[in-house]
Amino acid sequence: MAKVVIIGSGIGGLSTGIILARLGFEVTVVEKNRQPGGMMRSYVRQGVHCNVGLHYLGALDAGQVLRRCFDHLGITADLPLMRMGTDGPIDRYLFSDARLGIESFDVPAGFAAYESNLRAAFPTQQPQIDALMAMLRRSGSQFEQLDFLYSERPPLSWFEQMEPLGAVFERLGCSPGLRAVFGLPSVLIGVPPAVCPQFYHTMALASYLFSAWRLTSNGAHMADVCAQRLASLGGRVRTGDGVVRIRTADGCVQGVTLASGETLDTDLVISTLHPKETLGLLPPESVKPSYRRRIEGLQDTHGMTAVHALVPAARHPAFAHNLFAIQTDASGDASDLIYVQLRPSERPDQNLLSLITSGHEALWDRWQHTVSGKRGKEYLQSKTDFAHRLLGQAEKITGPLSGVQLLDVSTPLTIRDWVNSPNGSAYGVMRSTEQLLSGALLNRTSLQGLFLAGQSVMAPGILGTIIGSLATVQFIIGPERFRREVRI
Ligand SMILES: Cc1cc2nc3c(=O)[nH]c(=O)nc-3n(C[C@H](O)[C@H](O)[C@H](O)COP(=O)(O)OP(=O)(O)OC[C@H]3O[C@@H](n4cnc5c(N)ncnc54)[C@H](O)[C@@H]3O)c2cc1C
Repeated sequence: MAKVVIIGSGIGGLSTGIILARLGFEVTVVEKNRQPGGMMRSYVRQGVHCNVGLHYLGALDAGQVLRRCFDHLGITADLPLMRMGTDGPIDRYLFSDARLGIESFDVPAGFAAYESNLRAAFPTQQPQIDALMAMLRRSGSQFEQLDFLYSERPPLSWFEQMEPLGAVFERLGCSPGLRAVFGLPSVLIGVPPAVCPQFYHTMALASYLFSAWRLTSNGAHMADVCAQRLASLGGRVRTGDGVVRIRTADGCVQGVTLASGETLDTDLVISTLHPKETLGLLPPESVKPSYRRRIEGLQDTHGMTAVHALVPAARHPAFAHNLFAIQTDASGDASDLIYVQLRPSERPDQNLLSLITSGHEALWDRWQHTVSGKRGKEYLQSKTDFAHRLLGQAEKITGPLSGVQLLDVSTPLTIRDWVNSPNGSAYGVMRSTEQLLSGALLNRTSLQGLFLAGQSVMAPGILGTIIGSLATVQFIIGPERFRREVRI
C-alpha cells in the first residue's frame, strides 16, 4: 500500500487524506496543533464555540457541488445543517456612499430571484444585468460540473473565463451601484473586484446562489467529523507534533522530521500549508532558485480581525442571514467591510454576535515579533479597544447594542500563529488576474513525491480547498484513474 504523509489537518489535509484513503493509500496526517481542523476549527470561550473560518457554506443541496464533495468524503450525514434564505435573504448588503444610489441590497437564494432583485434595484442597467447574469450562469454551470477536473480540455482554455471583473464592468458600462453589488463576492475570497478573475468571482457568488447553509453545530464538530471519517478508513491524524523538515535526497522526497525529533519515512508527502511555509520546511538546495523566487513573490490575501461577543437573546434576536456593511471607492468596488452574524449560542439566553473586518495589520505591527499568548497587556488592551470601536460601528447596522459581553478578539497575528499562515493571510495566495500564471498549478513541485494542497493551490473557502485537494489527488494518481475512481 502506498504511504503518504500529509502536513496539516485543516479541511485541505483532512479532505485529501480521506480521498486518498478511499483509494487505498496508507494516510498519516500530521498536525502541529493539539486538535485537528486548522481554520475550520472553532474554539471555546465561556462555554461558547467561536467559529474562525466557517460561517456559511454554499451548494450543499442534494446533487450540488459541495454536497457531492461531502458525499464523496462521507461526512454529509454527520453535519447538522440549516438552509439559509428560506424566510428572507441569504445576505444583506448595506452601503453608506450616496454616490452608489443604493443603500441596501438583499441577496436571495436562487439565480432567478437574484436576477430579479438586481433588475429592481438598477432599472437603468438592464442590458448590463443581461450580460452579467449570462456570464454568471455559464461559468456557474461549468463550475457545478467540475469541468476543469473531468474534461480533457487543456487548462489554458479556461483562461477565457479569467477576464478581470473590473474589465467586465468597464466593458459593459456598469454603474457604481451595480458594480458594488455584483462585485462584492470577490471580497469574500480576498480579491479586490477589479482584479478578480471572473471565474473565481462566479465560484464565490454562484455557490451561495445554488443554496446557502449554516452548520448548526460548530467548526470543531466538523473538524472532528472529518478526522473520525479518516480514522474509519484506516488513516491516522497525529496532533501536537508539527513537521519541521521535509527530508529530500537527489530530488526525491524521503520523509518528514517532526518537532519531537521523530522521523516518518515515505516517498509521498503532501503539504497543505501555504507554499511559502512549505518552502521553509525544505532544505534550501532542494528547490531551484527560480521556484523559490516565484513562491516568495506571490502576493497573499490580507488578514482579518474578528470579534466575538455574547448579547442577551431577548433584546437581540438572532437572524438567519449575513449582514455586510460595505465601504466602497468611487468606482463602486468594495474597499472594506464589516461582516455581522448574530446566531444562537450554546447559552439559551445569549446570542453570539460575530464581527469580522479587514486585518488592520498596521495596528498589530508592533507585536509581530511576539507569539500567541505572550504578547502582553498592551496588546490585550488594544484588542479590547478595537473590539469596542467595531461594536460601535456595528451598532449603526444592528441598532443600539446593550448587555454586550466580549468573548474574544482575534487578529491576523492570531491566525498567523494558529495555522502558520504568512502574516495571518486569511485566504492564502491571492487569486488575482495578475497572478494567474505565477499562482497556477501550485499542486505540483519539482521534487519527486512532493505535492501541495490547501487553500492556496487553487481557491480558498471550504469548497475551493476541497476542489484543490481533488486536483492534487488527480496529479498523484493520474487523470485516467481519477476519472474512473473519483466520481464527484
Ligand atoms: C475569518 C475567516 C472567515 C472565513 N469564513 C469562511 C466561510 O464562511 N466559509 C468558507 O467556506 N470559508 C471561510 N473561510 C476560509 C476557510 O476557512 C479556509 O479557506 C480553509 O479553512 C483553509 O483550509 P486549509 O486546510 O487550506 O488551511 P488551514 O485550515 O490553515 O490548515 C493548515 C493546517 O496546517 C497546520 N500546520 C501549519 N504548519 C504546520 C506544520 N509545520 N506541521 C504540521 N501542521 C502544520 C495548521 O495548524 C493547520 O491546522 C474563512 C477564513 C477566515 C480566515
